[in-house]
Amino acid sequence: MSKAISRHSDIEQVTFQPAYPGSRAVFMAEVSTRKEMRQIQELFDMVGQLAEVVPVSHGTVMSYAVHVHGDTSLFGKIEWLLKTQFTFSLVERDFSAVTLQLVESLCAESDTELLDLPHCGICDEVDPFPTRATARLSNGKEEHLAYCARCSARHSHEEPAEMVRELVRRDRRRLRMTAETTVLLMPEMVEELQVAV
Ligand SMILES: [Zn+2]
Repeated sequence: MSKAISRHSDIEQVTFQPAYPGSRAVFMAEVSTRKEMRQIQELFDMVGQLAEVVPVSHGTVMSYAVHVHGDTSLFGKIEWLLKTQFTFSLVERDFSAVTLQLVESLCAESDTELLDLPHCGICDEVDPFPTRATARLSNGKEEHLAYCARCSARHSHEEPAEMVRELVRRDRRRLRMTAETTVLLMPEMVEELQVAV
């Protein structure tokens, strides 16, 4: 009977979705009217058909993180569109703690809401495009796991099943994969993307 208690964090099945390699950028623009807010939302809806887009802040300062898998010319096109449509816009060709601090300070000054982004289960670093996994525990609960690019990269040479095992082992939530845990790899959802803005 005590066995059941000690096994509450055992993982029965884990669905693993490695992050795609590629380049990231963060785009920020100040909007002063509802119309401008709609304009920028429409722009990034369009970008979302060509790349992965994650909203970072919503309000006077609108910001979006964008991840492309190959050709980065899309970044230059977005930058140009923002420059022509908005009085103030800014681009960071990366996503790092420094970028996040910059967005945070712009948001604080303008009373803009910073949106929730995934935190790494190992080092707590924020990463809008993490390696993800969903763990179904033996108690029937599900846990959503995320691992930042830096922590994932340490195990990127491993087979996917071994990689997820290593990441979960270092996760601060102390979940446990056993010999019986099944690992499902998410199929590639995004094929080679054609960039044609
Ligand atoms: Zn990490």
